[in-house]
Amino acid sequence: MGEAIGEPANLRAFAALESNVRLYSRSLPDVFSRARGSIMLTDGGREVIDFLSGAGALNYGHNNHEIKAAIAEYLASDAVVHGLDMATPAKREFMETFDSVILRERGLQNYRFQFTGPTGANAVEAALKLSRKITGRQNVISFTHGYHGLSLGAAAATGGRLFRVASGVALSGATFMPYDGYLGPAVDTSDYLRKVLLDESSGVDAPAAILVETVQGEGGINVAGKEWLQSLQAIAKDVGALFIVDDIQMGCGRTGEFFSFEFAGLSPDIVVLSKSLSGYGLPLSMLLIKEERDAWRPGEHTATFRGNNLALVSATAAINVYWRSRTFSEGVQRTGDLMRRRLDSIASEHGNSFAVRGRGMALGFDCQIAEIADATARKAFEKGLVIERCGPSDQVVKFLPALTIDLETLNQGIDIFEVSLTETLEQARVV
Ligand SMILES: *Cc1c(COP(=O)(O)O)cnc(C)c1O
Repeated sequence: MGEAIGEPANLRAFAALESNVRLYSRSLPDVFSRARGSIMLTDGGREVIDFLSGAGALNYGHNNHEIKAAIAEYLASDAVVHGLDMATPAKREFMETFDSVILRERGLQNYRFQFTGPTGANAVEAALKLSRKITGRQNVISFTHGYHGLSLGAAAATGGRLFRVASGVALSGATFMPYDGYLGPAVDTSDYLRKVLLDESSGVDAPAAILVETVQGEGGINVAGKEWLQSLQAIAKDVGALFIVDDIQMGCGRTGEFFSFEFAGLSPDIVVLSKSLSGYGLPLSMLLIKEERDAWRPGEHTATFRGNNLALVSATAAINVYWRSRTFSEGVQRTGDLMRRRLDSIASEHGNSFAVRGRGMALGFDCQIAEIADATARKAFEKGLVIERCGPSDQVVKFLPALTIDLETLNQGIDIFEVSLTETLEQARVV
């Protein structure tokens, strides 16, 4: 169990005291004490570049100083930090800012804000509960390789077998359909979805909701196309189901625009946001619910830490600093293109046995073979790069640098990845 032998000395306490469930302290075996922007500093004084960004929770980098100033000022003023969901100026300012700068600028009027418990999973639970309440149906359509969190309702809509088995009970209420591209580029899987949902005898129960990620973050950076997403929204409408976009990982600018579905012109019934919403790595989750879908009775979904004021203050600051003009968004798209070109050329140098996928600054380098991705990521960490893997067998190296990263650091990180991959392949050839 807590085998302390073989652990680096500075990690012994974690091996001895922390549950076996811990994960990142194994794949990134060091102690991290400070961080700023895209650089993390270990206890021993080693600097590493961060391409993981808290799994997408740090889109604006670590300890972003402009955002930090707003939190520091709030704390210094003895303003209310915790007040359940009592009305506070911090919450009013957040909602008004988000409504005018993010929603109205994009023609997304008439959404209500629901602040859920602090995890993304809790927000997904709320979205599913609300859809079931509105429609009186239980079934939810989710997609192969989808990830929506690990509370039971969210896990039921999550594909990964490891997580499903670990739930320990029968997970019910979701039917999995093939994601875009699941059956190869020639098959439009939305045709199949439409067919089974309109067929009274298909064996698939009428759904309360269709729940989708526009790019599957944990599932391997699988990218859904514009037309496919538009079909999904149309099918949901035709069958009387709510259309829910889980934008927890791909929202808040990750794909270039604030919402990952803007490029397809969608207007989901419910949008789920979390991870980078607070802008500072503080926990904050919420739903945007179309006004006419807000069927909750007061208190029907509740939690102690919903809409924590400190996180709302940093969330407002993030919008004010980055989203009042198009400059930031354009920069993310440009940097994403540059990353894409570099990863494409690395893939082609190695004889095209690799695939590069993604949108904006969410990119996946599919090594096809889990051991190659694993060895590459481990080597990269030894050489000073924090990078994670994703996909059904963790065979995809996942690039999620902070959207604020400077080009020099970005290129250094990609250089480290390239050298690590090359060394891994050379060693694989020798073995
Ligand atoms: C991370 C994630 C979740 C779950 O969020 P937690 O805060 O970890 O519960 C749900 N959906 C997507 C797409 C995610 O990336």
